Amino acid sequence: MTAASTGSAERLDRVRRAMTEQGVDVLLVSVGRDLPYLTGYEAMPLERLTMLVVPREGDATMVVPRLEAPRVVKQPDVFRLRPWEETEDPSAIVAELAGPAGTVAVGDQMWARFLVELLALLPRATFRRAVDVVGPLRMVKDAAEIAALRAASAGADRVAVQLHAGDIQLIGRTEADVSADIGRRLIAEGHDKVNFAIVAAGENAASPHHHAGPRVIGEGEIVLCDFGGTMDGYCSDITRCVVTGDVPADIAEAYAVLHEAQQAGVAASTVGTPCQDVDRVGRAIIAAAGFGDFFVHRTGHGIGMEEHEDPYIVEGNGRPLEAGHAFSVEPGIYLPGRWGMRLEDIVVATDDGPDPLNAADHDLIQV
Ligand code: ZN
Ligand code: ZN
Ligand code: ZN
Repeated sequence: MTAASTGSAERLDRVRRAMTEQGVDVLLVSVGRDLPYLTGYEAMPLERLTMLVVPREGDATMVVPRLEAPRVVKQPDVFRLRPWEETEDPSAIVAELAGPAGTVAVGDQMWARFLVELLALLPRATFRRAVDVVGPLRMVKDAAEIAALRAASAGADRVAVQLHAGDIQLIGRTEADVSADIGRRLIAEGHDKVNFAIVAAGENAASPHHHAGPRVIGEGEIVLCDFGGTMDGYCSDITRCVVTGDVPADIAEAYAVLHEAQQAGVAASTVGTPCQDVDRVGRAIIAAAGFGDFFVHRTGHGIGMEEHEDPYIVEGNGRPLEAGHAFSVEPGIYLPGRWGMRLEDIVVATDDGPDPLNAADHDLIQV
């Protein structure tokens, strides 16, 4: 449990207000990030049920396996604890706590097994997704959460600086080897956990989510590195590209376009701007340069306790940015069979304008 992710009675109060607004009678939160957001407790993703039952009025109850109960930090003002024994049916306990609820909201990561059981135990209830209730709250980061995101981004930045400085040997090593190296450096720079370290060389970089493999990095190649981890419960995520040796002219030209598009996206990340407009700004620049067909993904994703969460920076999302929204701006250009490139920063929308959390050099550095 960290300062930024301690649950609080205040967060639960806000959840209850959202439930009232949306006509939700009971919120059921199981494995996934909503649970630590609300209670500070992270359930292990086990076959044994852990579930927070939040009625619109009345006490919240955390139903946990007896053997997990000692891990839960007691917070009587937030929830009461209901440990269940190995011989009990935990879904029945949840159904009883839910009572005659008309509308039940469930977290996206609840195991299907428990949802199927609850559907049978609460035959008159209507089920819907909890993301509509908790998502808008989690999207708006408070000061402690932004501080945690900033610290995680700074840790990822320090690894990017090492990459740019040539401290991470590339030529002659496999992508997988470099990926493991970057992962170790993320931990050394303060992360508790590595979430991913994409290393994609040359034509492999044309696949945006390439899995680092046995390909050996050569000279005169673009190497795309997209990595991040979790630090004190909050995620980092950064992409930088480097070139081993001389930069080919076509790559330099395309990168100038990408750089301009990414900067424009960051600059557009102001409070009140619809998410899709941040996407459109960068996409227009890439399209005008003739690469429109090669920017094959959305511009970004929200980030917080999860590496990908709301708000998504994508065409069709008209939600206006609010102060405290944290998200990536990461346009890319991918030429199949040849090369790919992406440039990614995490940005927080604030009343004083966009606040980029990553400061590592944005140029295409020769290493
Ligand atoms: Zn991604
Ligand atoms: Zn990334
Ligand atoms: Zn990202």
